[in-house]
Formats: sequence, structure tokens, C-alpha cells
Amino acid sequence: MPEWTQLIRDVPDFPKPGVVFKDIMPVLGEASAFAAAIEAMARPWQGVPIDAVLAIEARGFLLGAPLARTLGVGLVPLRKPGKLPGATLEQSYALEYGSDALVVQAGALAPGKRVLLVDDVLATGGTLLAARALAQQLGAQIAGASVLMELTFLNGRARWTDAAPLHAALVV
Ligand code: AMP
Repeated sequence: MPEWTQLIRDVPDFPKPGVVFKDIMPVLGEASAFAAAIEAMARPWQGVPIDAVLAIEARGFLLGAPLARTLGVGLVPLRKPGKLPGATLEQSYALEYGSDALVVQAGALAPGKRVLLVDDVLATGGTLLAARALAQQLGAQIAGASVLMELTFLNGRARWTDAAPLHAALVV
């Protein structure tokens, strides 16, 4: 196992009882681990035609920005409601209790651009599917999705029916 994977910390019962939160902040806090993690996320996409990273608020920003720089492409943030000025597009999605939404600035990308969706953790897959739907509202083509870590027991990958690849740098 690469050294960076050892730095992901399990926090039981956060943010609520029964959830084991995967805390990636120690990885980001150590220069060599951070670099290795971004390199592991970037590797499968080197040479793949991608125009922009679409990074999911909030931890997706921390990984999406260096990943976009590594791949030599721009970044478009997918934000929580109420954060972005001007005309926006919105995609809501169900949570265990209630719902949430992702928002992007209308016209953030010209139609037909190839995008890579980026987040920290793939759990049930709901967030990534909402990001994909929002990218489609923008008229983007999905080049793929990249997460630092996939939690296989939640089976989010089964919901990723897209032909484009979904890559996880660490699968547990
Ligand atoms: P899901 O939509 O269920 O795939 O959840 C993925 C989103 O929720 C990502 O943006 C993660 O940041 C966050 N998330 C879900 N489960 C966890 C977990 N166990 N540890 C850390 N983040 C999580």
C-alpha cells in the first residue's frame, strides 16, 4: 500500500452514529503524501482528452484543483446552493434524510467540452450521479470520474452506469 493511504484516518460515529468518516486531511497535510495521492488520481487520465475538471464542494475542491493543474486543464466548481453569482443550473439529489443540491454557473463551459468529475470519497454514489447530471445540463461530455477513495460496501459503483470510466485511487 502506498504511504499516503496509511494517513487516511477513520473517525467512528462522525458526523452521526454508525458512520465511519474517512478523514483525508492528514494526507493533504504532508507534502509527499499529498503529491503521491494526486499523482495516483492523475495517472489513469494522462493522455485522455479532457477539457476541464468539475470539482465537487468541498473536499473535491482540495483534490480537483491540484489534479486539474497536473492534467493541464481548467477547473469548474460544483457548489452548494447560494454560493455562486449570476445565472446558475441546479441538480438536487436525495440524501438519507432530506435532499441537497449542486449548482454550477450557466455557461461555465462551452457545450461539448469533455469533463472529469472529481470528489474525495465515493460512498452511495448519489453525489457523483448528481454531478454527472449537472455536467449534462451544461452540455458537457463525461470523460470520466475520479475519486481518491471508494467505499465498496456501499456499492456506489453499481450506480455509475456511464460508459466513461470511474477511477478510485484507493479501494476499500
Ligand atoms: P455519496 O453521495 O453517498 O457517494 O457520498 C459521497 C459524498 O459524501 C462525498 O462528497 C464525500 O465527501 C461524502 N462522504 C460520504 N461518506 C463519507 C465517509 N464515510 N467519509 C468521508 N466522506 C464521506
